[in-house]
Amino acid sequence: LLRAEAVHKYFGDHHVLRGIDLDVARGEVLCLLGPSGSGKSTFLRCINHLETIHSGRIWLGDETIGYRQQGARLVERPEREIVRQRRTMGMVFQRFNLFPHRTALQNVIEGPVQVRRENPKTARERGVRLLERVGLGDKFDAYPRQLSGGQQQRVAIARALAMEPQLMLFDEPTSALDPELVGEVLTVMKDLADSGLTMIVVTHEIGFAREVADRVAFMDGGRILEIGSPADVLDAPRHPRTRTFLSRVL
Ligand code: ATP
Ligand code: MG
Repeated sequence: LLRAEAVHKYFGDHHVLRGIDLDVARGEVLCLLGPSGSGKSTFLRCINHLETIHSGRIWLGDETIGYRQQGARLVERPEREIVRQRRTMGMVFQRFNLFPHRTALQNVIEGPVQVRRENPKTARERGVRLLERVGLGDKFDAYPRQLSGGQQQRVAIARALAMEPQLMLFDEPTSALDPELVGEVLTVMKDLADSGLTMIVVTHEIGFAREVADRVAFMDGGRILEIGSPADVLDAPRHPRTRTFLSRVL
């Protein structure tokens, strides 16, 4: 479903992504680990073209993200196409970014109604089902400030799902949460993984990676140093830097 080929990214003369190659199959869950500053968030942002890339390509299905071939060159797509492509991916960040003056249900149906021009009644029914699915069947009318961090993050997940993405990108979705709230969010994510959603998850939750990921990738210095099954990468890492990293987070 997703393919990155030799992706390079600079911020000024800082070479942040140094040739990322990655394939993610439909239905696959990939966990991306790595130290702070290794380029994990930047890579996720390149996937939905929140960041431009310097060279390389990112494919989603049979389209190149953000750019298209024009003769021998790749040119950036018009804004309208970038927006269309971005809508095929859902993104959940560390911070929940909910609209503070809208209820949980209003947050979830905002995209379908405003962006996809869905019939409000249909969008509402689907929104209700999504909130039930993330365990918030009794919180439709709550405002974000009335919800715990874990509940807000579950609303954010339901909101992303409401756009029916082909691919979900999670950037440390639990790292801003109090420890006792992490589990409820991971449970929802595991449920999504089991339902066959394709997911790329940046996380430091090694237990989640071990249990849920089909593959785990370890990133350092803008490269993927190691990728494989959770058992291979987490329990028998080949690269010394993976070992050092794991010994710190475990
Ligand atoms: P963390 O675990 O702390 O979230 P990360 O692996 O997500 O780290 P990135 O946020 O992708 O790392 O950052 C990679 C590098 O790119 C860092 O050195 C960072 O300072 C730099 N960087 C990120 N965003 C920008 C930006 N908008 N402008 C300039 N430099 C940036
Ligand atoms: Mg990051």
